[in-house]
Amino acid sequence: MTPIRIAIVGVGKIARDQHVPSIAASADFDLVATASRHGSVDGVPSYPDIEALLEKVEHFDAVALCMPPGPRHAAALTALRAGKHVLLEKPPGATLSELDDLVALAAGQRVSLFATWHSRFAAGVAQAKQWLASRNIRSVRVDWKEDVRKWHPGQAWIWEPGGFGVFDPGINALSIVTEILPMPIHLTAATLQFPENRTQPIAAELTFADAAGERATATFDWRQTGPQTWDIRASTDDGDLLLQSGGARLTIDGKMVVDGRDEEYAGIYRRFAGLIAARESDVDPRPLRHVADAFMVGRHAFVEPFED
Ligand code: NAP
Repeated sequence: MTPIRIAIVGVGKIARDQHVPSIAASADFDLVATASRHGSVDGVPSYPDIEALLEKVEHFDAVALCMPPGPRHAAALTALRAGKHVLLEKPPGATLSELDDLVALAAGQRVSLFATWHSRFAAGVAQAKQWLASRNIRSVRVDWKEDVRKWHPGQAWIWEPGGFGVFDPGINALSIVTEILPMPIHLTAATLQFPENRTQPIAAELTFADAAGERATATFDWRQTGPQTWDIRASTDDGDLLLQSGGARLTIDGKMVVDGRDEEYAGIYRRFAGLIAARESDVDPRPLRHVADAFMVGRHAFVEPFED
């Protein structure tokens, strides 16, 4: 099969760390260009923005939009109008509603729109979903605690409106939770901690319920130094499940079931190729909806200023 000719828009940390190597390792894709104001990839033609990319590069099929969520919607509209398949980094947008016209436009243009949730491709997630599918879940506990200085150096956008603060990593946990739980949940309460000098939260406590009552809690915190924690626990009538390392390690009743390598983006590009071949889209807004709910009903607490 002829490889899908793809361009990356927004060459920053995630484009360099994951998209460029994953495309290079994939037989399904060829990276033909990038569009970024400052970033570029050695040996690949680069353009300052998506408009210049579309004007200068005649034959390509798809774009991976790797910029922050704020400017992503406009770029996605431009790419879809030009008839390109579109991969959206997570979160898929700055608002829920802006996804609607992208979904409609992709369908009208008969191209694929893929709103990626990379954590769902972590090695233990599929088996965790399978194990939980037939079990009665008593409680779910999420701890997603990391050092913002280590993972987001110099990224001013995460502290701006539409940058989501600690929900930028926290939404990864919610993408796993919504994938592996057999029942829908909804947010019932939240406390968001805002540094006095920032517009976005540095920590959050969330409570979720399903039809049977409150069963899930989550703590997101960006102030964790030392060991980092990306854990999801589910207690069931038949035993306890523990996903660690962002979903890469799965333990059931203390026994290691999966101890996987980080191959999330290889999975993302396999899935994108499959969607393009089938002319299908995959857009699941549920993790973003939970974040929006937290901003809607969450109590706001103010904590000490945060300096990078
Ligand atoms: P980043 O390092 O700041 O890179 C984003 C790039 O987008 C920038 O380098 C910038 O390149 C471009 N850009 C275009 N418009 C921009 C704007 N208005 N403000 C800031 N940058 C703009 O961010 P990132 O960590 O790669 O994250 C990008 C997206 O990937 C986010 O949605 C994030 O949640 C997601 N993600 C990140 C990680 C991670 O580990 N960092 C992991 C998974 C997913 P130019 O200046 O060259 O245009």
